[in-house]
Amino acid sequence: MPIEVERLSGGTATLDDEKLAELRTTFHGSLLTREDDGYDEVRAVQNALIDRRPALVMRCSGAADVIDAVDLAREHGLLAAVRGGGHSVAGHSVRDRGLLIDLSGMRGVWVDPGSRTVRVQGGATWGDVDRETQVFGLVVAGGIVSTTGVAGLTLGGGIGWLHRKYGLSCDNLRAAEIVTADGRLLRASESENADLFWGLRGGGGNFGVVTAFEFTAHPLGPVVMCAVPMYADDFGEVFRAWRDWADTVPDEVTTRAMFWTAPEDPHMPPQVHGRQLLITGAVYAGPPEEGEEVLRPVRHLGTPLADPSGPMPYRMFQSAFDFFFAKGALASYWKSLFLKELTGRAVDLIVGGGLARTTPQSMVHVPLLGGAVSRVGPHDTAFGDRDARCMLSVDGNWVDHHGAADHVAWVRRTIGRAEELSTGGTYLNFDGEEPAKTPELVSAAFGENLRRLTELKGRYDPRNLFRLNANIPPA
Ligand code: FAD
Repeated sequence: MPIEVERLSGGTATLDDEKLAELRTTFHGSLLTREDDGYDEVRAVQNALIDRRPALVMRCSGAADVIDAVDLAREHGLLAAVRGGGHSVAGHSVRDRGLLIDLSGMRGVWVDPGSRTVRVQGGATWGDVDRETQVFGLVVAGGIVSTTGVAGLTLGGGIGWLHRKYGLSCDNLRAAEIVTADGRLLRASESENADLFWGLRGGGGNFGVVTAFEFTAHPLGPVVMCAVPMYADDFGEVFRAWRDWADTVPDEVTTRAMFWTAPEDPHMPPQVHGRQLLITGAVYAGPPEEGEEVLRPVRHLGTPLADPSGPMPYRMFQSAFDFFFAKGALASYWKSLFLKELTGRAVDLIVGGGLARTTPQSMVHVPLLGGAVSRVGPHDTAFGDRDARCMLSVDGNWVDHHGAADHVAWVRRTIGRAEELSTGGTYLNFDGEEPAKTPELVSAAFGENLRRLTELKGRYDPRNLFRLNANIPPA
């Protein structure tokens, strides 16, 4: 049956039976339309707010399939979304009536322990990477939920539990293979297409579809020291004590303060079930016995109601939050900004916002930045803000859609109040859907790098084929 696919220029293009049959002769993965079994499964993404029905899903099995998909989009002027792990909070990775270029079937990870290089296909998750790298006692700096995609997270920056020691995920990229809008498969590194390589480190999915990443890995694990003290009172005092401690820690420590309400779940200690918490989490990127000493103070900022801290397998800690972020379980609207300093006023705003959360699943969290993140020059990669002391992320999450407007309002109010203290930057990977605001957010995120990014976009994607993202307009 012919299908109608939304076009870049408005209206729809018809892909008739002949065209679909022709595609099927070369395409190695699966082509799915609304009539096909498995369609609903393949269109589903992380954020329960995003319930969209693409006209055609091209579930790619390798770079050649990605080239076919990009060629189809270009030749017919189709509006195409690109999906890696499907965690885009803004829902960029699926579009009603559009084409979906889905890489979720491309999850291979290969580790070369000699050169400490890790090659990762464009649809892999961080859990896939951790699984293979830990066999060799290696890690790649990723995110904090193992089901998040490597692609979207890395292309947008990448903040996790190791960034202060090893930098953002994008700082650990050695090379990428990418299908650009003209259907070429290019390699980008410091020595090949270096302009593109610069843009891929923070510039998001604007320049094409990355089929493979090559990362630098670092020795760590299998056991690392992790602190997860859970405080249930004296929030202001504990947060201030965390801030003062965070000012003193070496780069081996990556830490974040999180306001959250513990679910009644066997993964959480029973005494915290249903309690509003301030968790001052930290990981030590070094020998666990050394980490026990260095992380001791963060466990005594007050009297924690529970403290399941201790040495644990790195992989276990990397998936410790997965249970609370099951695919499609939560509707999410998040906003973020970078803070210059954690001044007294900033602390009051954060604690006030944390305690005013409108749902137990919502979160206010403050990852400490600095360390290796700030040692990369502001113009060395596309990623914008390198000087911030920390990020403030206000994450509205809910299960009952009736109160959605209140939850969105709380996110906007909390971020709005903190704006006067911000560096002006935002982390695009943590920003919810707000199309009218995208140009402003993109400008805030990239700052002085935006001009170079628009020129790069003009060179590699002049028609803006890849526009379902935090879009950089072509020069
Ligand atoms: P997708 O939704 O698949 O893709 C998002 C966008 O990335 C796409 O629209 C496209 O523009 C681009 N893209 C995806 N794949 C490709 C590709 N192969 N080639 C080119 N472009 C591509 N961020 C952090 O930094 N640290 C965290 O710890 C962290 N934790 C998170 C936890 C949860 C539960 C969620 C929902 C998000 C989290 N994020 C985190 C944010 C995350 O970085 C972004 O949502 C990111 O976009 C996810 O990447 P993905 O591949 O899963 O997303």
